[in-house]
Amino acid sequence: MSWIDSHCHVTADRYDEDRDAVLERAFAAGVERLICVGAGYGLEANQQAIDLAERDPRVFATAGIHPHDAEVWDDAGRARVRAWLDHPRVMAVGECGLDYYYENSPREAQRRAFAEQVALARETDLPVSIHVRDRGTDAYDELLDIWRAEGRGDVDGVLHCYTHDTPFALRALDERLRVSFSGIVTFKRAADLRDVARALPLEALLVETDAPFLAPEGHRGRRNEPAWVVAVGETLAGVKQVPVEEVARTTTRNAAAFYRLPDATE
Ligand SMILES: [Zn+2]
Ligand SMILES: [Zn+2]
Repeated sequence: MSWIDSHCHVTADRYDEDRDAVLERAFAAGVERLICVGAGYGLEANQQAIDLAERDPRVFATAGIHPHDAEVWDDAGRARVRAWLDHPRVMAVGECGLDYYYENSPREAQRRAFAEQVALARETDLPVSIHVRDRGTDAYDELLDIWRAEGRGDVDGVLHCYTHDTPFALRALDERLRVSFSGIVTFKRAADLRDVARALPLEALLVETDAPFLAPEGHRGRRNEPAWVVAVGETLAGVKQVPVEEVARTTTRNAAAFYRLPDATE
């Protein structure tokens, strides 16, 4: 069985002591390729993801600015991201989006940064890794508005670490968006989210860890790692009552097509 961890942050400093061992455990667990998201630790951290992707053919990068950091987004930052997007190991823009749950950056700055990154994705013909979170629904509604206005139906995106409801997910699928589940779907209290997964076609789903965050049930409270994406897949298999091999095969195919990944052997 082979898997793709479609969203993780293995260049985070929490892996500085044992990054190679973490990656080896992932490969040994069948995680044949992984998407290392550069955004989330400030603008310059994107370069670390690209450096790792240059060193290991099984690792691919993204480049962008996280909504938490949207306040620092400016024309210079946009030019920097635009340049990174030309790198052959950068497969997507992001993660970018709207986070009104933590609201670490002002909403207006988040909207602007997201809109401009969707425009960059359209310009470069790359997909977008999207982060969206809210206590209510404003971030979700505004996200779709910006997505339509800036993407104009030409851009593919994935709602990473999905935690919202089924109706929104179904709306998103009509807008060239996929849905990615993280370890949250394995949590004992996450029955509602498993119902969302049950309602969506496997052909639209990706799996991810978002490591170092969100370790799955059985590992909670610990640093997450890409090897544990298998637990997400196993939960989806149980929810959808299909063999875990089918979840591995389909989500791997979905992620490889979405990020347009070359074969692991290339
Ligand atoms: Zn995120
Ligand atoms: Zn992330």
